[in-house]
Amino acid sequence: MNLQDNKYRFLFGPVPSRRLGLSLGVDLVPFKTCTQNCLYCQLGRDGNLVLERKVYVPPQDVLNEIKQWLTDGAAADYITISGSGEPSLHSQLGRIINGIHSLTKIPVALITNGSLFWIPEVRKECSEADVVLPSLDSGDPKTFEEINHPHPDLDFSKFVDGLCQFRNEYKGPIWLEVFFCEGINTSTDSILNLKRLIEKIQPDRVQLNTAVRPTAHPDVRPVDKDKLQSIAVQLRPDAEVIADFPSKQTPEVSAASEQKILDTLKRRPCGLEELCISLQISPNLAAKHLQHLQEKGQIRIENRKGKNFYCTL
Ligand code: SF4
Repeated sequence: MNLQDNKYRFLFGPVPSRRLGLSLGVDLVPFKTCTQNCLYCQLGRDGNLVLERKVYVPPQDVLNEIKQWLTDGAAADYITISGSGEPSLHSQLGRIINGIHSLTKIPVALITNGSLFWIPEVRKECSEADVVLPSLDSGDPKTFEEINHPHPDLDFSKFVDGLCQFRNEYKGPIWLEVFFCEGINTSTDSILNLKRLIEKIQPDRVQLNTAVRPTAHPDVRPVDKDKLQSIAVQLRPDAEVIADFPSKQTPEVSAASEQKILDTLKRRPCGLEELCISLQISPNLAAKHLQHLQEKGQIRIENRKGKNFYCTL
């Protein structure tokens, strides 16, 4: 199933995601409708900065699309509520997540900036997801303002308390993403403040990211790979770097890798894991090449008995 034909208004992908495998995105708010206006946002600088929760898109229309997508035989590792703004602004988020659960066993992931967790209803609705991936980029109010440019009525201590309360109430896994911008939240003090809050929030995973793709502000600088790795160790021994650093490969090497993938898939369809083992490449790199090949229309994904296989066209 190719979503590029505009058959769907609220779904995108599925795309290989470093954190969630093959992920079908579900978008619940209009473009760049958010409680924050982060320096590193990939959606551009101008947006709709709001705190109002409401029915931004009709829940039944979203569920109908997912139903259609499932009927078409598509598959994914996760159905991920994320997209072009803050999904917890949708006042029927809980209903939508439960509606997805009633349609499929595919787990639902929720990517949120976590800024509305101080509202009990939001915590309750978000708790319906199978995994929640909130963000925390600063350990103090000043850096919060600087990096996340929150709505003027958003308060940092309320934001952190909301995250802690959500941790206490939610029984599922919380994977906390921390986005680092060089020179903004990378000082020793910034890292210590973040570490202190992470110890308080106790997420199941801590995942570090940085600006490897174009951001809202062109002057946002990425943190280099080694430094990010060293920050990860300082934050928590098991913290992971998830930033998708550009490969040092030349375009020729990259094309050669893709040709090898195509040759392998021509012989027989493979799952991601099998492909990685047979070509001795990391899942992340394989996913990147597979996404590229999919975009070029050279391969497709087929689900067989619940497992995704990549096949040539
Ligand atoms: S929370 Fe996400 S969507 Fe909102 S401004 Fe920040 S990066 Fe963009």
